[in-house]
Amino acid sequence: MRVLVTGLGTFWGSRIAQALEQLPEVELVVGVDTREPRLPLTRTEFVKADPSYTILRRMVRATQVDTVLHTHLEVDSTRTSSRRLHEVNVIGTIPGKRPERIALATHYDTKRFQEFKFVGASDGASSTAAVLELARVLKNRQNEFTIELLFLDGEEAVNIEWRDPDNTYGSKYYVQAAKQAGTLAGLKALVLLDMVGDRDLDIRPDSNSARWLNTIVWNSAARRGYGSTFVPEGFTVEDDHLPFVEAGVASIDIIDLDYPQWHTAQDDLDHVSARSLQTVGDVVLDAWPQIEGQLSR
Ligand SMILES: [Zn+2]
Repeated sequence: MRVLVTGLGTFWGSRIAQALEQLPEVELVVGVDTREPRLPLTRTEFVKADPSYTILRRMVRATQVDTVLHTHLEVDSTRTSSRRLHEVNVIGTIPGKRPERIALATHYDTKRFQEFKFVGASDGASSTAAVLELARVLKNRQNEFTIELLFLDGEEAVNIEWRDPDNTYGSKYYVQAAKQAGTLAGLKALVLLDMVGDRDLDIRPDSNSARWLNTIVWNSAARRGYGSTFVPEGFTVEDDHLPFVEAGVASIDIIDLDYPQWHTAQDDLDHVSARSLQTVGDVVLDAWPQIEGQLSR
């Protein structure tokens, strides 16, 4: 693995480079920023530059990296004043033939409960694990579109009830920031995974999702023999895809909300299954080239 890290001049960027240096499977770490690294680094190659798209593309070619870690640290205490949570979206990029992106997203935060210890094995961890593993597989493919791996923070409400605007902080922030930066137009679709760990997995098509994406994904599920998991009865979900849908990005939410352990102390390892992650992973991998094909028309 060869990794390019942006934002090396921040504590967060330097800390990521330090962690990457420790991984034996990471052959090369290249960091870029206008400022010097904030922490001592042993084998990271530092390039002092403003990481514009052109510069990044040149660096990717020159250093033959397969992974770009582009990180943002966003602290906005006004929206989370009750506990002053700090929220961090983590974004990875797998370069494709085209610069236009398809995002593969999950929330990676879990709900905070005072009353009991909450694990969040399905609600948070399952889709995070699935996206990490999908990234490992997808990076070895020749992808038509650039893949943006989106680990969103703050999906869960700070308060007990999931009530607007107290939810989906990370996705709302992403869309707003991308609009301001003029990069949202390059995002052609969003595939969101959430709560995919249930042992008794059943996934229903969400009416807030784009119909053509639902069709592709349900066809893939049928083709792979998962017709009993991806059932036809639809429902309506509010989740991290909504800010994207509202901004006009074709989106799909693959979610199993029929999970009795949801937001309880029992959302733990006993109630999730690796097989469920495999099912969802197989379907996403089967659907991915079809999604690319549809977007290329
Ligand atoms: Zn939740």
